[in-house]
Amino acid sequence: MQDDVAGIMLTNPNTCGLFETDIRTIADLIHDAGGYFYCDGANFNAIVGRVRPGDLGVDAMHINLHKTFSTPHGGGGPGSGPTVLSEALAPFAPIPNVVRGSDGQYQLVEDALGDHSAAFGRMAAFHGQMGMFVRALAYILSHGADGLRQAAEDAVLNANYIQARLKQVMTPAFEGYCMHEALFSDAFMAEGIGTIDLAKALIDEGYHPMTMYFPLVVHGAMLIEPTETESKQELDRFCDSVLAIARRAADGDESLRQAPFFAPLERLDETRAARKPKLRWRPPEPQAIAAE
Ligand SMILES: *Cc1c(COP(=O)(O)O)cnc(C)c1O
Repeated sequence: MQDDVAGIMLTNPNTCGLFETDIRTIADLIHDAGGYFYCDGANFNAIVGRVRPGDLGVDAMHINLHKTFSTPHGGGGPGSGPTVLSEALAPFAPIPNVVRGSDGQYQLVEDALGDHSAAFGRMAAFHGQMGMFVRALAYILSHGADGLRQAAEDAVLNANYIQARLKQVMTPAFEGYCMHEALFSDAFMAEGIGTIDLAKALIDEGYHPMTMYFPLVVHGAMLIEPTETESKQELDRFCDSVLAIARRAADGDESLRQAPFFAPLERLDETRAARKPKLRWRPPEPQAIAAE
């Protein structure tokens, strides 16, 4: 924390599903050094309604509407969301922006004048993906503060339920409770069986595999984020499937290496797919062995 440190970026909870409990100390250190604290809001769904980022010492945080407030992922560019600022950084917010006056009325600020003369620039895409904001606002209003808080609590409860069940066979990456996602390493697997084999076998069970080999700090990582929306029955069905495969992986069942057996496309030659990607669809050639 020398003079040349302008700021830090931290994700909390982080990608290992852990809450950084020293976050206040970290924020104080950066502030004492004259710097600012940027928080990646990617995992806000684990703490929304329970924690105010400002209380953690955050100066700027983006809100991933598609992660916390129900808007769609991907789909050609609806990714869009607000960045929230502390009082220290608010004067630098780019224009145009909207302020609420003392009369309770909202006002569109178009010019970097007066209170807004420190604005660092102008946003070309001010309106963003308007439909995303409407949808996120509808989600927020329909849940209310208590509903948002419960969504966060249920997401964390569901992840811990999965962690508790799967650790009967699988190796949790960290001791203790997790936040909204449960992380496992491949340490429980027999030699010659890997995370990819478990993931492919899950396709045969009708499940889209979990996030694999990420985060990189955990060997053969399997990151499971159930969210708040799954019922206990569905969590149990999923855990039963994963546990059955995990037992086979622990026992060194070689057949796992050929999975999936029941998917339209079987095990891919991923190296060939990466080196010789087929970028244009052509009518299938039944005899050809295709990389995809
Ligand atoms: C999802 C995620 C991102 C990427 O955010 P997008 O808005 O989905 O591109 C960045 N960091 C972390 C920790 C994430 O979980």
